[in-house]
Amino acid sequence: MTPLEDAQAFVLGSCPPLGAIDVDRTDASGLVLAAPVVAGEVVPPFDNSAVDGYAVRAADVADAPVELRVIGELAAGAAPSRSLGAREAIRIMTGAPLPFGADAIVMVEDSERIGDDAVRLLRSVPVGAAIRRAGDDVRVGDVLFDAGTIVSPPVAGVLASVNAQRVTVHRRAVVAVLSTGDELVDDGSSLEIGQIRESNKTMLAALLTETGCEVVDLGIVRDDEAELEGVLRAAAGHCDAIISSGGVSMGDYDVVKAVLGRIADMHWMQIAIKPAKPFAFGRLEGTPIFGLPGNPVSSLVSFELLARPALRRMMGHGRLTRSNVVAVADEPLDRQPDGKVHFMRVNGGFGDDGRYHVRPVGAQGSHQLAATALADAMAVVPDGLGVPAGADVAVLMLRSDA
Ligand code: AMP
Ligand code: MG
Repeated sequence: MTPLEDAQAFVLGSCPPLGAIDVDRTDASGLVLAAPVVAGEVVPPFDNSAVDGYAVRAADVADAPVELRVIGELAAGAAPSRSLGAREAIRIMTGAPLPFGADAIVMVEDSERIGDDAVRLLRSVPVGAAIRRAGDDVRVGDVLFDAGTIVSPPVAGVLASVNAQRVTVHRRAVVAVLSTGDELVDDGSSLEIGQIRESNKTMLAALLTETGCEVVDLGIVRDDEAELEGVLRAAAGHCDAIISSGGVSMGDYDVVKAVLGRIADMHWMQIAIKPAKPFAFGRLEGTPIFGLPGNPVSSLVSFELLARPALRRMMGHGRLTRSNVVAVADEPLDRQPDGKVHFMRVNGGFGDDGRYHVRPVGAQGSHQLAATALADAMAVVPDGLGVPAGADVAVLMLRSDA
């Protein structure tokens, strides 16, 4: 059996980052910058008010409470039409430009309006109070984001704030997904004896989307060598990677094994993990191809441990694996020695002690996707007799909000 780390290193080494392209900022969400972003504009573009209040000269309110003459009003978006003289105030809204002559803002909460033309200001403020200076967020020439930064929602916001129209990113991987097996049905028709509903492709397509890939659905391919070869060759021609499920284990009808063994440069592995022991990886006409096992939970675990990190590398990510933490096993994670690391699906949550606590989801069979579907994490249980209740165990988070 191949240690998981060896399989991971081999796969990652065969999946280098895809090329960089320039895209519209609006298409860059979730992608990874391949070049730094340098600010071409200043943010904020002008001195402006941080609050709703009155623009004043700080010296005029030094002896507050004081009454000042109100000579106008400035809303956000308005340009100041006159400057402020001694013992004058201008009503100003958040985001409106600081009028000439003003050097501080008194919050509206610290004022009492006296008719249209005057205001009583109840508090003195220092020079600069509640003023947001031009450039105090971003200055022209600032390196805002280095290559490797993910265009997260706030990063996208910053790009908009400096009018960065185009950005250089690693391409989104185009990934074909197929499932194989004569037993699979996905058209809603009633099941004949021996048939089951297809579920892996549905799950894998959603996992690919979540990973930021563009999915090409190749459907269900029957256990027919000629058909499979045609579908795989076509996909290799226009996709960055191919993911298949089923047909890589020891069965007699494992046509994926037969076809890929013939047309691609494949490595058939028995990885020292449970579930997801059988795994195949190789290249078809240069395109990386992942042969995941057919059992649904194995497919998921294989994707998480081997495909997802590789696809993230292709798309330029620096952090390839899910977050891992050392958790407390609230219930025993029992197992028997078998030379494999077990990835037991667990539910978890942070306790009052600030630590992540886990317990097994229940059914751990590799066909029992329903129980695994609600898991928050996978406990990494090393070979041996398992982890007793109360002991520490490493877990790999499956969801960022778990
Ligand atoms: P295989 O790896 O093809 O030997 O399949 C192993 C098990 O997974 C069998 O019980 C298959 O019926 C099942 N299986 C294979 N592909 C799928 C799929 N796409 N959806 C659901 N179950 C599957
Ligand atoms: Mg099969």
